[in-house]
Amino acid sequence: MNMLVCSNCGEKFALNEPIWRCTECGDVLNVDFNAEFPLSKIEERIPSMWRYKEAIPLQKLECKVSFNEGYTPMETMDFDGNTVQMKQDFLFPTGSFKDRGASVLVSKVKELDVNYLVEDSSGNAGCAIAAYAAKAGISCEIFVPKATPAGKLVQIRTYGANLTKIDGDRQATANAALDAAENRYYASHSWNPFFFHGTKTFAFEVCEQQAWEAPDHVILPVGNGTLLLGAYIGFQELYNASIIEKMPRMVAVQSEYCNPLSQMFEKQLAQAPPLESQETLAEGIAIVDPIRAQQIVAAVEDTDGDFVTVSDEEIKAALTTIGAKGYYIEPTAAATIAGIQKLGKEYTGEAIVSACTGHGLKATQKILKILS
Ligand SMILES: *Cc1c(COP(=O)(O)O)cnc(C)c1O
Ligand SMILES: [Zn+2]
Repeated sequence: MNMLVCSNCGEKFALNEPIWRCTECGDVLNVDFNAEFPLSKIEERIPSMWRYKEAIPLQKLECKVSFNEGYTPMETMDFDGNTVQMKQDFLFPTGSFKDRGASVLVSKVKELDVNYLVEDSSGNAGCAIAAYAAKAGISCEIFVPKATPAGKLVQIRTYGANLTKIDGDRQATANAALDAAENRYYASHSWNPFFFHGTKTFAFEVCEQQAWEAPDHVILPVGNGTLLLGAYIGFQELYNASIIEKMPRMVAVQSEYCNPLSQMFEKQLAQAPPLESQETLAEGIAIVDPIRAQQIVAAVEDTDGDFVTVSDEEIKAALTTIGAKGYYIEPTAAATIAGIQKLGKEYTGEAIVSACTGHGLKATQKILKILS
């Protein structure tokens, strides 16, 4: 209880060891943590993800790095006659749900007294880590592929992060960050287990906002699985604490043009198949070789869930549909809506929860292309 455990060899480490992968076998770590939910206290606190502080594996709460984020609104939306409760997770300080993970991870970094962190992402995770590092006064270096459009880096640069451009693709960039992480702390949203203990607050909020009841289905976009796996951990903790009576079915949305996890699920593969990265409107979920692939597929299988893939045409249509309801979200987030529209019929009459994961203002150039 209350330690880091290797997902492969089972080696255990103290929660306050400044490591982000198993030092024995190099595989991903999980946090084994005894989450507690003092409901009457929780319900009196301000509406932020930190109202669940007894469920967050931080030992020194004074190290909390927070903008009082979270407890996002849950709105009822209708898609072709299906009622879906949509968490408005584009309403975070940096414009995506990644702030949930960044708030907990950067708090942990501060608690560990680490003053320099590295991350690789040109997208929303990079923005979130850079913002929270800025808030904490911690230096941060973000590795990005050289070809990343300047517009995508503006937000990260504005937060004062050091940007290192790598002459190569996404994998080369990840390798450069891994090299730098030899002697720096790797605040990776895919590797670092504390990130998932931030994103798990999604599940806590969903259940509290529904009078502590679990929905039947939770439909989420999946690239590296930080939201889906985090939500799965969160629902499990609530279930183990007997606060909810069942686990929801976890349903994952991928792009047709980058669907390694959906292929693993459909074809019962032990590993992600070798894929070429292809252009898709949903670049935020186009992850060719997700670090936690097995865990993600296992979470979907364990809950008797499902996968659905969507095309760029369907994403375009979904962006228009949700825009016409008054919501400006980025194309990656619209992929989830496309997934709901495709699968919804199968779940008619059941309680469905999903999320708007990222703000449209992040992707104005891309949306302009879609419109014209
Ligand atoms: C990161 C992100 C996703 C996908 O999350 P994963 O952790 O890669 O599964 C979906 N939507 C938006 C807006 C994102 O930023
Ligand atoms: Zn190990």
